Amino acid sequence: MTARRPLIAGNWKMNGGLAQVDGLAGALARRLADTAERPFDMLVCPPATLVAAVAGEVLGSPLMVGGQDCHTAESGAHTGDIAAAMLRELGASHVIVGHSERRADHGEDDATVKAKAEAALAAGLVAIVCIGETLAQRDAGETLAVNRRQLVGSLPAGATPANTVIAYEPVWAIGTGRTASPEQAQEVHAMIRQVLGESLGAEAAGAMRLLYGGSMKPGNAAELMAQPDIDGGLIGGASLKVDDFWAIAQAV
Ligand code: PGA
Repeated sequence: MTARRPLIAGNWKMNGGLAQVDGLAGALARRLADTAERPFDMLVCPPATLVAAVAGEVLGSPLMVGGQDCHTAESGAHTGDIAAAMLRELGASHVIVGHSERRADHGEDDATVKAKAEAALAAGLVAIVCIGETLAQRDAGETLAVNRRQLVGSLPAGATPANTVIAYEPVWAIGTGRTASPEQAQEVHAMIRQVLGESLGAEAAGAMRLLYGGSMKPGNAAELMAQPDIDGGLIGGASLKVDDFWAIAQAV
């Protein structure tokens, strides 16, 4: 099996201000610098307003910076939107696309998410493509079908293990304190890897990183990441506290 280096990614969502540039991102960068054994990659995705400041703060450190969304277009008449190349220019290396909050709040469908991911790749960013079922879909027994459909519909053309990460985030687990059990998460992750194998081939599928997201915390991170197809986490609430986020990384 291909060795996959775990990725611990923080999604700050619409939280944080200038105080978090040093207090959160800077603090994490200093801890990384002080850590000799570091069997994981670490990424923070602050709000767009902070990407430049955070990138400047952590310059030269292994801590990576990402955006939370990008537009499908390179530039143009899209008031309030941000192009992938703009994030790249500020020092971002990654961008989250298709988060369930974007899908719900902004009506983003799979075709839009795919186009955003392709825009990210074109700009040289790594796309973190999010998928996940609602509680109603899980209760209706549609979990695997929904995630398969979202994955196939959202996967960018030209996806490789180097430029694409998949995040499975069951909507019912996000911000609710209710986490998928390791078995529930692994079942979906195994399906994701199988579907990736069908479209990208077994080698690429085996090397692509699959993150779990949804109330990941220091107390549950180890058992989730111990699953064979879970290669890290996309962490919301717990990524806003240095100690919690760091503790999750230590669970790798
Ligand atoms: P949560 O959010 O960790 O607060 O549940 C995860 C996410 O939405 O990325």
